[in-house]
Amino acid sequence: MSQTWNQYVVKKENKALVLKTILGKAPISRASIAQVTGLNKGTVSSLVSELIDEKLIHESGTAASSGGRRPVILLLNEKAGFTISVDLGVQNILAVLTDLRGNIILEKKTHFESHDLDQVLSSLYQLIDQLKEEAPPSEYGIVGIGIGVPGVVTTEGEILLAPNLEWKKVPLKQLLTDRYQIPVTVENEANAGAYGEKMYGAGEMANELIYASISIGIGVGLLLNGKLYRGLRGFSGELGHMTIEKDGKTCRCGNQGCWELYASENALLEKAADAGYQTGSLEEIVTAADNGEAKALNILHEIGDYIGVGITNIIHIFNPEQVVIGNTILAAEKHLLPAIEKRIEKNTIGFNKNDVHVSPAKLKQHSTVLGIAAFNIEKFFQETGNEMIAN
Ligand SMILES: [Zn+2]
Repeated sequence: MSQTWNQYVVKKENKALVLKTILGKAPISRASIAQVTGLNKGTVSSLVSELIDEKLIHESGTAASSGGRRPVILLLNEKAGFTISVDLGVQNILAVLTDLRGNIILEKKTHFESHDLDQVLSSLYQLIDQLKEEAPPSEYGIVGIGIGVPGVVTTEGEILLAPNLEWKKVPLKQLLTDRYQIPVTVENEANAGAYGEKMYGAGEMANELIYASISIGIGVGLLLNGKLYRGLRGFSGELGHMTIEKDGKTCRCGNQGCWELYASENALLEKAADAGYQTGSLEEIVTAADNGEAKALNILHEIGDYIGVGITNIIHIFNPEQVVIGNTILAAEKHLLPAIEKRIEKNTIGFNKNDVHVSPAKLKQHSTVLGIAAFNIEKFFQETGNEMIAN
């Protein structure tokens, strides 16, 4: 190889940048790519030719000219490969096949009761195998497998602790890599949800975004200055365990009075059981509230109020532009949101409605899987740059 190491690294980065620009802004011309990226036209032209040869992009007609020759339009070849992106919940697994633009092509779901690791893994493998088999033929096949998990994930992709699954030290990334020999991403589900909403959902415009994933437990994903904030070892966002009642109920984590004991779906179901609801499912309470039952309306009001308390604390720490509420609790959003907003408005210092937008997840149950898809796609683009240049 005649290039120096430095040239090699710069070229790799430039190529990933061009690809990312086409992903975000297509249809786009070579000249516009040069303008957006700040690369010179010759560099863009040569990288674009390589990407066309690799079948990752293609030319498609011409755009209107602003004087001179009409520019040729470039498009992403989004069906050149697919991702398998999974949201591993506490009771459900949602798995999707997406193309390279994050469009969902196929979707599978399964429910599980037992948290036995081998049983859950076998359900997970089954869904991944099915999607792999049913994926349409393509140039690159499955380019990445990614899993969002409800727990603390190290930067090496090991699940250190998933309290609501009762798992400790599960080397999930290693297990999946050994089995599939495809690049694997393992990420906290709330981090993935935050990224999904930023890329494809409610937070497209926001650079300071908080995603509160409220389900059996609560996790929080933080996007600060446009980037996912992971903390020193990837443990940030365990805000479901911030103390909101100092002598409160005892939590699985060992502390007392954790936010998730008062504001999660679990907290809601406990209240429902105390109030005499028999099956005590979230759907049952929502239906009762829809019918105007005071008991159900009170439960939802109180849960919403507690969600608002935690979110107010988070607003005070991070001063976000956008707060997105996601995961299974969304089934009750219309009953919860007024109470959440009321509490935030009452308790937030210097509250200004125009400064902080609180909204339900635009992607509904798909925030996490689409965030995972975005991670898979970015990784593939980065690595494709590597392989090509090495040849
Ligand atoms: Zn706790």
